[in-house]
Amino acid sequence: MNDTAETLHFSCTLCGKCCHDLKLPLSVSESISWLRRGGVVQVLTEAMPWPVEPPADDGPAQHKRRRSFAATSGNQPIRVIVTLAASFDGPCPHLRDDMRCGAYEARPRVCRIYPAEVNPYVKLMPAGKACPPQAWTEQHPAFERAGRILDDQTVEIIRQSRDADAQDASLKERFVALLGYTKAALSNEGFAVYTPQPAAAREALEAVAAQASRSSLDRVSSDWTFVSNQRDTIEALVSIEARATADTKDDDGAFRYLGWRASNT
Ligand code: SF4
Ligand code: SF4
Repeated sequence: MNDTAETLHFSCTLCGKCCHDLKLPLSVSESISWLRRGGVVQVLTEAMPWPVEPPADDGPAQHKRRRSFAATSGNQPIRVIVTLAASFDGPCPHLRDDMRCGAYEARPRVCRIYPAEVNPYVKLMPAGKACPPQAWTEQHPAFERAGRILDDQTVEIIRQSRDADAQDASLKERFVALLGYTKAALSNEGFAVYTPQPAAAREALEAVAAQASRSSLDRVSSDWTFVSNQRDTIEALVSIEARATADTKDDDGAFRYLGWRASNT
């Protein structure tokens, strides 16, 4: 697969697998565009206790800090990460029969960089990608060497994605406040997945985007509840005076819990 242990070769085979059954992370402006084209955007929430600020040289923690906003859970300071995701089962609504993108010029950044990773702390692993083995053979151009993506355009789009992620954190804070979302999974354990009505999501996103373009955003004060399907997690969160519940869906079905481990509650 590699000419050296550190070089990944890649070329898209147009198999279309990466355009099926997805939750595609989108920026705020991409979410508005996706909704305007008739798509569905889900809201994935995760949070973590944040009792003290991490050192400036703690790269992974600083990465989480940039893409999150401050809040509380009971007496515990926390940070909340909100991911907006274009969601579909089966083929993407824009996927054509010939496996080409029907929204090519407007496709989200995450589609433009695939199979590269946006998160600088996630290693690109072919086994974790939808692309078939023949996409990674040495006949193809070098795609990544020693952990660095080689194509300048892809590098630039990844940079834009990271910048948008950081800039959008305060807009997402306002957005979830408008929709009344206050439940989050513990980060690295899963997500609370909200599925707002597309019209309501679009209206709220357009409102926060318009406000951001006029002035700095008001701070929002919100108190969050952790949701978990792990008994130990709930006990640990309650012991630090955070709010935590094993109820993995609201009575009105507003969210459902998507956990990485089988429930033991
Ligand atoms: S927008 Fe285009 S590239 Fe992205 S998942 Fe849909 S069909 Fe694929
Ligand atoms: S899964 Fe990989 S090879 Fe297949 S269409 Fe997507 S990027 Fe191309």
